[in-house]
Formats: sequence, structure tokens, C-alpha cells
Amino acid sequence: MKIRSIAYSKINLFLKVTGKRPDGYHEILSFFLPLTSPADNIVLTVDDLTVLFGIEIICRDKKVPTDETNICHKAAVRYAAMTGLPAKWRIEIDKKIPVAAGMGGGSSDAAAVLQMLQKHYKQLPLPVLTRAALHVGADVPFFMESRPAIASGIGERLEFLTGVLPEIPVVLVNPGFPVSAQWAYDNMDPALTGPADKDRFNALTSAVRAGNFKTCAGLLHNDLAPAVIRKFPILQILKDRLLTHGALGAEMTGSGPTVFAICSDFTYAEKVAAAMRQEFPEMDVFVSGKNLS
Ligand code: ATP
Repeated sequence: MKIRSIAYSKINLFLKVTGKRPDGYHEILSFFLPLTSPADNIVLTVDDLTVLFGIEIICRDKKVPTDETNICHKAAVRYAAMTGLPAKWRIEIDKKIPVAAGMGGGSSDAAAVLQMLQKHYKQLPLPVLTRAALHVGADVPFFMESRPAIASGIGERLEFLTGVLPEIPVVLVNPGFPVSAQWAYDNMDPALTGPADKDRFNALTSAVRAGNFKTCAGLLHNDLAPAVIRKFPILQILKDRLLTHGALGAEMTGSGPTVFAICSDFTYAEKVAAAMRQEFPEMDVFVSGKNLS
């Protein structure tokens, strides 16, 4: 039997590193915006005699490991361990979200696997499933919901925004090389770590709710960006070019290197995307699909 799911991507409209815990984890205040595009398609095969033993991962993208280091493998192992079910599953990943791009692709795939296993077996109460997700990765609980959220703690403390939010017209540019999240955190200027500017953060949240894209674009923030941009100056060029082509504001998402821009409307976003594709044909350019709220 095959079960299918879509794993959405995300951008961080705001990413403030507020502290570092003794165990090495960074504490953050972040605004997570899920996007329906790009998204991965995940197919889980259960109760199938051709899956003889263990967890099989299939992915044509060579940048994605298919052994036990794949985060989907970790998710499936955890579900099996917590339920006592025999882990005999095939997971096929059709990868569309750029890898190591700051768009949460791996975490989203893992959340999709947990959701599909739960949908089929219904073995874990919701709080237990959420805890299992957190053990797989700090961003996995967010993708279990894939709704706009304010994240704090190490990203696991989530406040989901209620109601239907206006769709934000976003253009994404991925330059094609990976950035390790570990590198980005290790190399950020420690002086940036500290309390978030709550007024700015609240103003951003209000602007998102109100669909005030110009204000929203002026309040984007990412503490990881300066170090990553210093290493890869092309990212500053991409941000500048997005603005030159008419975007309202641009920033790097997560640990990068994907850069995104907010535009006044979707027609304009398509124009900005077309101009970026023409100027940087070797790069992946996306216009976000409908936001999820
Ligand atoms: P985040 O925004 O959460 O920091 P990211 O988008 O920057 O994540 P991912 O695409 O999740 O990064 O990939 C990070 C690393 O994880 C990759 O270099 C890859 O080797 C490994 N990986 C393991 N499983 C997956 C998966 N299912 N999809 C993508 N990468 C995976």
C-alpha cells in the first residue's frame, strides 16, 4: 500500500539568535513562513512484501543520502521504536526543495514520514508524536503543522498564527551550492547573540497579519546572514539585484544560501522572478505558491 504526502518548504522572515545553551544548541526567536512551493513529494510504502527488511530510502537527488543518515530514516526508526512496529517501509523522496538551502527540506520530509506513519497506524497520541518529532529535529514539529508560526526555544516552542493570513508574494533564489547550518551558527558573530528587538518582531507579525507587504519587507532580519554573506558575496549581489528589479525587501532564509524577496503582488513577483532567471540562468528561481495558514 502506498501513502502519499507533500512536504512543504519554509522561509524565516525573522531569525534572531537570542542565546546559546550549555549543550551547544542555539536559542532563537523566529518567524517561520511555510511555502507550498517548492515542495517535495513523499511516497511511503507499507504492508508490502517487496519491502523485505528495514527502511529503504529512494531518492534520485545525489545530494540526499539514502542510508540511515537520511532524516526520514531517523523519523521512521523512531516511530518504530515508540510503537514496537516492525520497521519495514520504503520511503521515496521526489526532491524539489533545494538541499542544505535554509528551507528546511530534510525536516519537512521527516515530518511527512511521521504524519504518514501515524495516519496509517494511528499508534501514538498527539503529544507523544510531537515529542517524537522534536527528537528527530528541532524544526520537525513546525512541519508537522506547516502553518505560519513564531518559534522560540531551540525552534521547538511554537505559537501558530490563527486565522487565514494574506498570501505573501515571495521570490526565492537558490544559488546551487550548499551551506551547512552548523557552519552558519559556528561562524556567526557572537556579538549578535542577545535579546530580540520585540517591537520590531511584533511589528513584523502585525504586518504579516495585515498583509502590509511593504512594512513586512522592511522588517526582515537574519542574524546568520552576515557571516554567510561574507563567505559568499554573491548572496549580497542577489539581494541587491532583487531590489533593483523591484522587490520591496530581501533577506537570506535560515542558514542560507537561499535568498528571498517580498514583492507588492504576485504579478510583480513573477516579473522579478523572470528578471532574475534571465540574469542568473544557472540558479533556481521560485515564486512561492499559496502560503499555508
Ligand atoms: P534547515 O533549514 O532546517 O537548516 P536545510 O534546508 O538547510 O535545513 P536540508 O535540506 O534539510 O538543509 O539538508 C541538510 C543536510 O541533511 C543535507 O546536506 C543532507 O546531507 C542531509 N539530509 C538528510 N536527509 C535529507 C533529506 N530527506 N532531504 C535533504 N537533505 C537531507
